[in-house]
Amino acid sequence: MSIEELMRDNIVALEPYRCARDEFEGVAEVYLDANEYWRSYIDFPGDINRYPDPRSSLLRKAIDDVLGLDYDMTIVGNGSDEIIDLLFRIFCNPGKDSALLMGPTYGAYKVFASINDVKVNVAPLTEEFAVDVNLVKKMIDETKPKLVFLCSPNNPTGNKIDYDTIKEIATYNQAITVVDEAYWDFSSERSASDLVKENERVVLMRTLSKAWGLASARIGIAMCSKKIHEAMYNVKYPYNVGLPSSTEALKALSNSDKVREGVEYTKKERERLVKLLKSCDKVVKVYPSDANFLLVKVTDADSIYIELQKRGIVVRNRSRELNCANCLRITVGSREENDRLIKALGEL
Ligand SMILES: *Cc1c(COP(=O)(O)O)cnc(C)c1O
Repeated sequence: MSIEELMRDNIVALEPYRCARDEFEGVAEVYLDANEYWRSYIDFPGDINRYPDPRSSLLRKAIDDVLGLDYDMTIVGNGSDEIIDLLFRIFCNPGKDSALLMGPTYGAYKVFASINDVKVNVAPLTEEFAVDVNLVKKMIDETKPKLVFLCSPNNPTGNKIDYDTIKEIATYNQAITVVDEAYWDFSSERSASDLVKENERVVLMRTLSKAWGLASARIGIAMCSKKIHEAMYNVKYPYNVGLPSSTEALKALSNSDKVREGVEYTKKERERLVKLLKSCDKVVKVYPSDANFLLVKVTDADSIYIELQKRGIVVRNRSRELNCANCLRITVGSREENDRLIKALGEL
């Protein structure tokens, strides 16, 4: 099927909104086109009284320079959340189409599917949380999903999916394969970004919310082929990324050495935390992680979760996820925070 055939008919036929800044790209002396106020009332480095660039051009140039994701192929979203929602709205007919997930995985896929009235089928990961490629292929054949989500490294399990496995599934899948690399910075695995260039049905997602320390700025990135790119641009809110967010994101991207130091710090702390956790009585198992968090099987997740909370420490209780009985997901924090966690666990 072509990309257009995979898309919803109303999206292919969409007459998109075009804003003033779409029609005029140069620099003018007087802007009387968008009903803005002529000045701002606050100190801000930039024209905060003006509508932002719908293309996020400067930010995408920096994303190309620093992250190596081609300018022409990227879209910036209001977090990856927006990208996920856009994919459902572009490809999945409500009440008719389905998506395929590997489970357990990031909860947002299912939520956005439900909001869009899209059915979700789950291919269980193995007990060690590996992708069962044959099962996935079988489920692709049987359920004919419009979207197949692969999260690598995966949340909440922390493990990565090998590049070759991703490639094999993406090649087999005749619909859209979405590769979510939210935690890629912490991993040693090769990025799927070159798959996007080889295969027009692959969409890559990244975010500045994790390694880049900008969760509150809400900057998610999609890399995709031309037709999907066009549809995403037409379907997203025209001004989905505000100037304060893109300004701060540009600062972070121009400071990438600091970010790489931070990633190294987190990776070292991750290894230290693994050792410390393994020596705790309450810990049954620490799963291998390529991300900035650890999935930890404990003796009694529900009570330990509450006891940690009483000591001012919040972790994520994932014990009701598939194959995650008694599992907590614990973010790798600062050295001090990690020590506090270990001390609290020791007191239980
Ligand atoms: C945190 C996370 C994201 C990031 O979402 P944003 O909306 O960009 O903050 C995306 N995917 C996964 C799997 C995540 O865990």
